[in-house]
Amino acid sequence: MVDTKIIKLNLIFFMIYSVKSSPPEDPIKCSHNTNFNCTITNSYGAFPDRAICKASQAIYPSTEEELISIVANATREKRKMKIATRFSHSIPKLVCLDNDDQDGGLLISTKYLNKILRIDQEDMSITVESGVTLRQLISEAGKEGLVLPYAPYWWGLTIGGLIGTGAHGSSLWGMGSSVHDYIMQLRIVTPADASYNYAKVRILENGTSELNAVRVSLGVLGVISQVTLKLERVFKRSITLSERDDSNLGEDASTFGRQHEFADFTWYPSQRKVIYRIDDRVSASTPGNALNDFSGFRSTPSLVLAILRTTEEYQESTNDAGGKCSSAKLTTSTLKIGAYGLTNNGFTFTGYPVVGLHNRVQASGTCLDSLEDATITTCPWDHRVKGLFFHQTTFSISLSKVKGFIEDVQKLVVLEPRALCVLDLYNGILMRYVTTSNAYLGKQEDGLDFDITYYRSKDPMSLDSLKILLKR
Ligand SMILES: Cc1cc2nc3c(=O)[nH]c(=O)nc-3n(C[C@H](O)[C@H](O)[C@H](O)COP(=O)(O)OP(=O)(O)OC[C@H]3O[C@@H](n4cnc5c(N)ncnc54)[C@H](O)[C@@H]3O)c2cc1C
Repeated sequence: MVDTKIIKLNLIFFMIYSVKSSPPEDPIKCSHNTNFNCTITNSYGAFPDRAICKASQAIYPSTEEELISIVANATREKRKMKIATRFSHSIPKLVCLDNDDQDGGLLISTKYLNKILRIDQEDMSITVESGVTLRQLISEAGKEGLVLPYAPYWWGLTIGGLIGTGAHGSSLWGMGSSVHDYIMQLRIVTPADASYNYAKVRILENGTSELNAVRVSLGVLGVISQVTLKLERVFKRSITLSERDDSNLGEDASTFGRQHEFADFTWYPSQRKVIYRIDDRVSASTPGNALNDFSGFRSTPSLVLAILRTTEEYQESTNDAGGKCSSAKLTTSTLKIGAYGLTNNGFTFTGYPVVGLHNRVQASGTCLDSLEDATITTCPWDHRVKGLFFHQTTFSISLSKVKGFIEDVQKLVVLEPRALCVLDLYNGILMRYVTTSNAYLGKQEDGLDFDITYYRSKDPMSLDSLKILLKR
């Protein structure tokens, strides 16, 4: 996976359901009402080292035939191409053309390649165009009583984007938590020589080396046009989020994922606490109609976002470690009171376990629902308002070595107890299980993926507190 997770959760007190939220804006902008002289950014409005990238043109195919002709024309004219999506939720600048290629560089957006093509009950599979969102896929498959067994936790990703980056949920079971390991067939349009009219559709089947090269290929091999994914019959899950101290985390990390199918950890190292996700399949007759509407992915009043950001900027500028630790405790305790966005029946939380259909609990992202005006409510990281702005660092550690890493972090906390409160402000370290994959750029070993989110200054020259700590 290239990047991941989010969020700041002292928001939870202020989370207000509202119809007045705003959809993420199109990441591509071009000169007045044309498709020329364009820029692209990500959903945060900034790549790691710059705000935007440039391209001379953006094109929006709505069928595979149109896509073939676009790729063929661009290949014949020797133009550089990159693939963009409706959301652009990756932090790295994968979508940028080399050297801001304004001299012919082309962005091909999958925004209108957004159709569900087929749901096959017998085969238990779904075939979609690559711009279909995870939310669409879960919703449409669910209507037919089918589910993707493992998925990222956030709805706002496209199938092409999540396959391109190796996005995942958390599991060591089955074929693991990465969506790209459930591909049955994939169609990709690649440049070709003149004898093929400059573009070719390759139909890649599961089990072939070509497909293993294309899964997790970061958009460099061609444009994925359609994907067929293996599904399962819908099932129920029973979820308990159990808070414990982190003294056994090193030991537990290597075994917990074998005990519970959807296990993960949310670790608050500065508080010496960890939330264990005890999450398994249960019989369909188990009562419960749970819903997951994760608090950090809900629409948030922009005024609240501005207050949070201003507080955080103040704490950073004054090096107020104590203030950050207090905010961190408030964040994590309010999150706990709100059951992390879980309800037993879609409305209220009455206690664990929370039991519900897999497609209602596997992912969420209601901040994508929208009418207009981002200045009223929006996704917490929407760059059109003064909101959350952060770095994300993500890495995987094999299960055989993870204990040592966790113990090293615990030693750091002993040395500097308040230094890692900055992580708890963004809901700590999310630790999810990932498995060995046949994808050439997939995981080499079963492991735990660590997602760390922390304050980022709007001033590119500034050193944020975590970076200062790491430099010591
Ligand atoms: C709030 C939030 C929560 C997240 N949660 C998770 C999570 O739970 N698990 C996880 O693993 N990740 C998570 N992520 C990260 C996420 O996996 C990546 O950001 C994601 O894969 C990007 O998808 P996208 O559709 O926005 O693609 P983009 O960011 O637009 O594109 C990603 C890459 O894929 C390429 N690409 C896109 N479409 C195609 C195509 N049709 N053919 C070929 N290449 C293509 C692009 O060129 C680019 O290189 C999260 C991100 C956010 C913002």
